[in-house]
Amino acid sequence: MSELNLVLLGPPGSGKGTQGDRLREDLELPYYATGDILREAVREQTELGREAKAYMDRGDLVPDEVIIGVIAERIAGHEAEDGFILDGFPRTVGQAEALEARMDELSKRLTAALLIDVSDDEVVRRLGGRRTCPNGHVFHVEFDPPQTEGVCDVCGAELQIRDDDKPDVIKHRLAQYREKTEPLVAWYDERGLLERVDGSKEPDVVAEDIRALLATLRMEEEA
Ligand SMILES: [Zn+2]
Repeated sequence: MSELNLVLLGPPGSGKGTQGDRLREDLELPYYATGDILREAVREQTELGREAKAYMDRGDLVPDEVIIGVIAERIAGHEAEDGFILDGFPRTVGQAEALEARMDELSKRLTAALLIDVSDDEVVRRLGGRRTCPNGHVFHVEFDPPQTEGVCDVCGAELQIRDDDKPDVIKHRLAQYREKTEPLVAWYDERGLLERVDGSKEPDVVAEDIRALLATLRMEEEA
């Protein structure tokens, strides 16, 4: 069986996390979300984990080469011999190039960069409809409305729109995402590695589309 080495891409609100969880279960591949993988390296006190911690303790961003080192430690190991799923990294072309170089050293190759594509309007509809009570219970005006408008079903508190869920803030986050990620998407596209999935459909349908796509990719790899 050939390896299935995947990078997941998608804007906030695309359902990337949900699909990532399903992929992890379906494929039984290790799933590396950048934040988690760094925390784990710190907890396990690997050499790079200690290095990463020094940056985090100072409140600095962990540099790309340290993150790549942490990822390389993992994908070089036995656990990733059938493949892996990367979520949250790379975020820039520079990171993608560095990842490719490290994978070359490990004689590994990316199978695909999977982009879960949704329009800005759909993201605003999904994230902008969220209503949260002060105790953290979350509803959605369209997909999961409370029984009484504006009131939490669970605790009776007033529902509010978190700052993060306000349309202007969502649009700003989307603009930032597009600015950073579009060059990355183009870079993977040039290499013939980009696979787009329509993320505007129901989560079950998106999962099915991804499954079919990966089956095709695997057949091509083995042909
Ligand atoms: Zn509540």
